[in-house]
Amino acid sequence: MLDLPNLQTNVPLAPLTTYKIGGPADMFVTVHSAAELTAAVTAAKGRGIPYFVLGTGANILVSDAGFRGLVIHNRAKSIEVDTERLQVTAESGATIGEVIAAAAELDLGNLEYFTVVPSSVGGGVRQNFHFVEVDAAQWAASGEIVAGETQYLADRVTAGVVLDEAGKVHHVDHAWFEFTYDYSLMLDRPVILLATTFQMTRRPRAQIEQQIAASAAWRAAKQPLLADFPSCGSVFINIPGVGAGRLIDQAGLKGRSLGNVQVSPKHANYLVNLGGATAADVRGLIEAVQQEVQAATGQLLETEIGFVGDWSTWRS
Ligand SMILES: Cc1cc2nc3c(=O)[nH]c(=O)nc-3n(C[C@H](O)[C@H](O)[C@H](O)COP(=O)(O)OP(=O)(O)OC[C@H]3O[C@@H](n4cnc5c(N)ncnc54)[C@H](O)[C@@H]3O)c2cc1C
Repeated sequence: MLDLPNLQTNVPLAPLTTYKIGGPADMFVTVHSAAELTAAVTAAKGRGIPYFVLGTGANILVSDAGFRGLVIHNRAKSIEVDTERLQVTAESGATIGEVIAAAAELDLGNLEYFTVVPSSVGGGVRQNFHFVEVDAAQWAASGEIVAGETQYLADRVTAGVVLDEAGKVHHVDHAWFEFTYDYSLMLDRPVILLATTFQMTRRPRAQIEQQIAASAAWRAAKQPLLADFPSCGSVFINIPGVGAGRLIDQAGLKGRSLGNVQVSPKHANYLVNLGGATAADVRGLIEAVQQEVQAATGQLLETEIGFVGDWSTWRS
């Protein structure tokens, strides 16, 4: 057993994911600072125990069998605002929403495009969270929802602090992350993000709140809402210029279900939990969608979500 304060055993992971799916973690610890996060990772590595850093659980599917090892629930969320440099430095377990709120208090914005749905700083930077910029002024004036350019979290990241594979802490710059669409170097290297600095701009708090409201309106119009339909957002990587959801729709799969999981009739790239769905149902529906889309369109859809835990028995 690991020597960590507040270590728990056999902790259900489903409530800690937006899918509300998944079995228990054999070992589980919640960390509240970058130092505690580092200590937990170091302890697991030292004992050769598999570990997983969990943010808000919005981009993962946890297996029904759960996780054999240590899940580290990252709630390290100290946030510092530098009003001279117009920068915010946040520990990686802070949610993007918490960072936005702290900066907005001082009329600093620039992250308001990346909210409404859950994301920790760590999960968001790793995946280069992106979302369309909804025209907030037009939406406020007329209620019309007009989507503009895609905004990328990476474009706000100026620096980070990472714990590398050897247990060393490094201060890295923007270039280190090698950001592209849905990608950062963190997807290929098992480093842990401890903190990130974001470049902000002066923006009145009311304007930030209006942008968030416009984004929420866009999501309500186009996507199944998390409160009604647990999901992990888009399951498949978008194919530029084609769109994953459009291919699924073309293959006639909207509304298709397996067990209690359904291809959302509202947004085909969302496979939603209708209530009581299992991880095996989701995997099964993912495979069915991939096969049928390939047969109908010739395109192979790849998954963007992470499969976490023990999948050795999911087909049985
Ligand atoms: C309804 C809905 C809508 C969504 N819409 C969008 C959208 O518009 N755009 C978009 O980009 N995404 C979207 N997503 C996906 C999700 O919100 C993002 O991918 C988010 O950034 C995931 O962050 P997280 O904290 O939940 O990560 P988690 O799901 O907790 O973890 C994801 C991965 O990141 C790793 N990780 C987490 N923290 C760290 C760390 N500190 N260091 C190293 N690795 C870490 C985990 O180990 C795991 O491998 C949506 C999700 C939902 C549920």
